[in-house]
Amino acid sequence: MDFSLTDAQSDFVAAIRDFCRRECGTQEQREKLTEGYTEAHSDSLYRKMAELGWLGVTIPDHYGGAGGGMLDACLFMEETSRGLAPIGGYATTLIVAGATQRFGTEEQKRDLLGGIAGGEVEAIAMTEPEAGSDVGSLTTSAERVDGGFVIRGQKVFCSNARIARHILVVCRTTRGDDKHQGLSMIWIPTDAQNLRIDPIQTMGGRETAQLYLDEVEAPEDAALGEVDQGWTQLMAGLNVERLILAATMLGIGQRAFDDALAYVKERRQFGRPIGSFQALQHRLADLATELEAARLLTYWVASKVDENPARMLLMGGYGYSSEYDMERLVRATLVSTVYGGTSEIQRNIIAKTLGL
Ligand SMILES: Cc1cc2nc3c(=O)[nH]c(=O)nc-3n(C[C@H](O)[C@H](O)[C@H](O)COP(=O)(O)OP(=O)(O)OC[C@H]3O[C@@H](n4cnc5c(N)ncnc54)[C@H](O)[C@@H]3O)c2cc1C
Repeated sequence: MDFSLTDAQSDFVAAIRDFCRRECGTQEQREKLTEGYTEAHSDSLYRKMAELGWLGVTIPDHYGGAGGGMLDACLFMEETSRGLAPIGGYATTLIVAGATQRFGTEEQKRDLLGGIAGGEVEAIAMTEPEAGSDVGSLTTSAERVDGGFVIRGQKVFCSNARIARHILVVCRTTRGDDKHQGLSMIWIPTDAQNLRIDPIQTMGGRETAQLYLDEVEAPEDAALGEVDQGWTQLMAGLNVERLILAATMLGIGQRAFDDALAYVKERRQFGRPIGSFQALQHRLADLATELEAARLLTYWVASKVDENPARMLLMGGYGYSSEYDMERLVRATLVSTVYGGTSEIQRNIIAKTLGL
């Protein structure tokens, strides 16, 4: 199997690397872009990427995108993560873009995909206080009324809700014996009446939010795809979400490796660089091998990657100090085993494919 990139893809990666070096290459730049690391997303940086045509990488050109595929999106995620670009809004936006491409009407595609390519952020809300891993048991309801829906319920951990243009809300339109039947996806603008968005303070900042939907009205054409077929639509998207996460974590892992390698070459103890000790050399060699294996898996069967490449014990106490980016890299990877479905649930899925 040939995993080599095309010239265009190699140029794309090089351009992103150069951009990140110029725009967010120093801690001072990143602090400024993230308001002292309290925000995961910089709108100004994101808009510059939109102007370069990068945010529509997977979007067909007739909707304002570049017409690329998921490998291109993975390269983008990997390289922007490696470059520590604060564009936390991209992942959920890519998920919503995928769902729109798969299930949207022509009008929805023109509106949503054009906006996304131009720098708009979109969010998706599945999780509820009582429905996390068992997301099929969600209870937020969308009652059919004349001309549309009235939505009631509560969502939690909705990434990017505060900065998004819309939230794609997964809700129950029909109740029956099978919890996976009767779900639907409905778009709600973030400035909708009777929608309250409360940020949640997490290790990663304030990028997630609780949503309170107290009789939020949505028109008929706010439904994405088929009403009552939301579960199937959601599953198609979640598989892509795992691929996106794999590429993101690969980029973060690569950056953590780059920084750790530079550190062990520079830091001296016992009169020599600590990287000259064989014990650390072996650990780095193992990490380099694991990263390459993860890269191959991401490019080929990325949805199966549940690897956590954050085993960075080479910087001792300084790896936990906020003076170094390593501390943020470790925090960023810790949560990767939770969102998009926890690692236990991913293993359950893999076991199922093995007939267990
Ligand atoms: C930073 C962040 C961003 C997120 N963004 C979004 C978002 O944008 N939109 C959205 O809808 N959701 C989002 N989520 C929610 C995420 O999808 C859920 O947190 C995740 O699915 C787990 O649900 P839970 O937190 O309720 O944990 P629970 O389901 O309560 O699980 C708790 C623990 O029990 C384990 N467990 C549960 N069931 C099983 C089982 N059958 N077998 C083995 N172990 C099991 C889990 O693996 C976990 O370790 C986000 C979460 C985080 C932390």
